[in-house]
Amino acid sequence: MTIGVGGAEDGEHRHVGPAHRRRTDDACPGVLRLHTAADGPLARIRLPGGMLRPSQLEALATAAETIGDGSIEITSRGNVQLRGVRDADALAVLLADADLLPAPRHDRVRNILASPHSGRIGGHTDVRALVDDLHAALTGRDGTAELPGRVLFALDDGSGDLSHRRADFGAHFVGPDRAAILIDGADTGVRVARDRVPDVLVDLAETFARIRGDAWRVRDLPDGGAGLVAAAGLVPDPDAATPEDLPGAPTSIGWFDQDDGAVTLAAATPLGVLPARTAHFLAAIDHPIVLTPDRFILVTDLDEGTAETVVRVLAPMGLIFDAASPWAEVTSCTGAPGCEHARADVRGDLVDAVRDDALPTTGRQHWVGCDRACGTPQGADIVVATDDGYRVADG
Ligand code: SF4
Repeated sequence: MTIGVGGAEDGEHRHVGPAHRRRTDDACPGVLRLHTAADGPLARIRLPGGMLRPSQLEALATAAETIGDGSIEITSRGNVQLRGVRDADALAVLLADADLLPAPRHDRVRNILASPHSGRIGGHTDVRALVDDLHAALTGRDGTAELPGRVLFALDDGSGDLSHRRADFGAHFVGPDRAAILIDGADTGVRVARDRVPDVLVDLAETFARIRGDAWRVRDLPDGGAGLVAAAGLVPDPDAATPEDLPGAPTSIGWFDQDDGAVTLAAATPLGVLPARTAHFLAAIDHPIVLTPDRFILVTDLDEGTAETVVRVLAPMGLIFDAASPWAEVTSCTGAPGCEHARADVRGDLVDAVRDDALPTTGRQHWVGCDRACGTPQGADIVVATDDGYRVADG
């Protein structure tokens, strides 16, 4: 078990001040390599597609209670983190038993986003099975084990809810059986049939792993990744039309009718932190859970009566189902005391600002404790701590 040093936040690091020194060691945490945060060892557990079986959520809640600090953090990649880990070996055993450590050599590269409502609401196609196929392709090759832990894959079902997030390697469906291949969120012009998507994305990633030098993300390459298409033997279609987003994919929290007549409930939890006790209740509903890159929790495939009961029980416990709540639009990094770089107790200050109706800007905003701006969602204003309060950065 390794205790490493590095960022405490999953996802984007968008500098809003002087650039930091480039690291030479990949310090992204995982299950087997923990990050030494200021408040103790931190483990990051990858959840491809953000998908969780109830038994897995139950295992995470138990781990948070018995080995961590009592809570589960949801990240901006739909992964989760446990803080204050007291026994790394016991955690690895517990997570492996829950099938949350299925590929130890590839543990930190299993970063796969999928349209959160796919197969239930909208979209050209159901990408849930493709998540499994992509995961199998990614973890089945030796060459991908050395990918940086920050590399991100995305499967957008055509809703357009993911492609703007600039995953390193993405597929954006333009029909039920055809996808556009994206690099760093940009259309390459390559079009492939559905069943080729996993291998094509992994071919690109393997090519990147071979040539990347000290680049952590595709966007760090001198050409921004433009040469990867030819290097992977792919040929753009000169007549390829620009993908158009389908309307209708929910982007906030609340009650959503599925195409099959069932109900998805989408909830926010303040600061993206889910107390273990609430997680136990969510697991007890015994329905599939999806965690989204907006740090929302989807409880899916409910009948109306069960959905009403879930809202009645879990809203008083702190889960938020009202899209008008500020917590539908505000997020934060860890801040002090969890991160040694923080200039402020960002979470405490954000809770105060929400309570006092004193947010410094409107709409999506992400509060951070320093210029590194960890975990900033695309399109959010950045509210950064200074030595003299907070300022809204240009982003
Ligand atoms: S304080 Fe800075 S380094 Fe620490 S989590 Fe926040 S943005 Fe990242």
